[in-house]
Amino acid sequence: MLELREGQDGDRVVTRCGIPAGSIVWRGWGEELGRRTRWSYQVDHDRHLELGGAAARIRHSCEPNCGVLIRREARILEIHSLRALAAGEELTVDYATFEWEIEYQAGACRCGRPSCRGRIVGFRGLPADRRAAYGRYIAPYLREIEWGIRPIAVGRAVLGQPRSEDLAEVGATV
Ligand SMILES: [Zn+2]
Repeated sequence: MLELREGQDGDRVVTRCGIPAGSIVWRGWGEELGRRTRWSYQVDHDRHLELGGAAARIRHSCEPNCGVLIRREARILEIHSLRALAAGEELTVDYATFEWEIEYQAGACRCGRPSCRGRIVGFRGLPADRRAAYGRYIAPYLREIEWGIRPIAVGRAVLGQPRSEDLAEVGATV
């Protein structure tokens, strides 16, 4: 379904066929590593994943057409279409929805979208309204960090870490 195409402005991953909104474009897992690499996806506080095949090379956009759903307990990573995709269209994801910080994307973001943030940043630089809009497409470990920090930031009692069962439920429906 996915194909890696080389281009002058870099390689892109495209879909070979039209895909309706809300579809699972890719599903699988990969090789778990203890460190970040050029093409890894961060799936937990200290775990990074290199996906197999073309999916590993999907580029960043600040206004992506796909979302990444990580079910780390089940060891399943899914890439969902956020809108309908035409055959031959490039797939994009927002790296800030799963990377705490970005190490291998120096310089300006070239996604060209109206809402481009200028640089490819990690979750730390993702505005609150975007975090809310992505919802379940924010990696569970990042939601844990956010929920752990927020009560302190607003001066309320610490609510504690979410239970892993709750997190699994958040990502349970497509
Ligand atoms: Zn951008």
